[in-house]
Amino acid sequence: MSTPLVHTELYRLPWTLPDNAISWLEPTSTCNLYCDGCYRKNEPNGHKPLEQVRKELDIFNRMRKTDGVSIAGGDPLTHPDIEKIVEMVARDGQKPVVNTNGQLLTMEKLRALKNAGVAGFTFHIDSGQQRPHMKGKTEIELNELRLRYARMLAEVGGISCAFNATVYEHTLNDVPAIVAWGQEHIDIVHILVFIAYRAAPVHRGYQYYVGGQKIDMAPISYAIERDRKTSIMSTDIVDTIRTRFPDFQPCAYLNGTERPDHFKWLLTMRMGTSEKIYGHAGPRFMELSQSLHHFMKGSYLAYTKPEVLARVKSMLMLSPLDPGLAATASAYLHDVARSPALLFKKLHMQSVMIIQPADFMENGTLSMCDGCPDITVWNDKLVWSCRMEELNTFGDWVRAVKEGEN
Ligand code: SF4
Repeated sequence: MSTPLVHTELYRLPWTLPDNAISWLEPTSTCNLYCDGCYRKNEPNGHKPLEQVRKELDIFNRMRKTDGVSIAGGDPLTHPDIEKIVEMVARDGQKPVVNTNGQLLTMEKLRALKNAGVAGFTFHIDSGQQRPHMKGKTEIELNELRLRYARMLAEVGGISCAFNATVYEHTLNDVPAIVAWGQEHIDIVHILVFIAYRAAPVHRGYQYYVGGQKIDMAPISYAIERDRKTSIMSTDIVDTIRTRFPDFQPCAYLNGTERPDHFKWLLTMRMGTSEKIYGHAGPRFMELSQSLHHFMKGSYLAYTKPEVLARVKSMLMLSPLDPGLAATASAYLHDVARSPALLFKKLHMQSVMIIQPADFMENGTLSMCDGCPDITVWNDKLVWSCRMEELNTFGDWVRAVKEGEN
């Protein structure tokens, strides 16, 4: 049986509302796919003009320190001025990271975005998308598509490559195969993100209110009528990964606003080669890298450059400060003693982030990610991007009240 995770033994990432590693910019709500579990209503004419995008970036700059800006949507590659948007973020001194399904990415577009200053891509690829020519493909079969994008980025070079996948009840058991694929391509795949499926359960004996007004949740894109599992926990995903990788060991987390012991963002940093993972960074290493980056650059670290992730051997010099690094160094040196040629092989670092979005609590409140990195701008205010449809539809947050209690 795997060791249970105890939040007091991990590093609580220092991210807060005004001072965070990431912010979430949505220049469009237009998308060229319809993904199961998407939080945004797909608007055919959803592109924001550049002046609006500039205004939202200014609001971030005024209200929130940030290292990276996730440029999301909708699919941001549908926006006719995506290069200019990337350039605006880069000029502000932040890392522009494009969150896309990849459908519109060509080598020409990629090179233009690289010239504009793109720091990374997060490709959303999973079996819950209506991809033309890919219908019915399993998570494992989709690794081929993931690899195609990873190779495109590697060809251009110097761009962080991340993949995210929504995890449903029926795909939970496929997660270890994606983690194994990530290891196989650890030199060009820098981040894997698994997001537990969530939706608003309108069918479970709750009524919904905005202020004192009872409302119908049906128009909200993430409201569901049918019974689906919406409670996969990040620890379920860890346990599933450990069925194939028993040593898999997270080091840092964000808690829930209602539950300090829940892991809403759970980060694992593993080190090794495509053949073998030698170990995992520990909480002290994460604390050091976040604090040092904040001390030197004024913001918490997001999206490490690919060339830094390939300098694991230098990082192992910090072993006296972090037991996770020490164990990794020891496992690596043990293998070097048996096979000295290993010394000439690069070790890589790869992050695995597990996200457990909004949790519906028994009393109707929602437990959000405390220190939410995906905060966006709505009507000049900073808001949770995962619940923005409530604001778009009703002008305020929705409250759930158990029937019989109102
Ligand atoms: S609170 Fe919502 S928007 Fe923020 S990180 Fe969690 S799931 Fe994402």
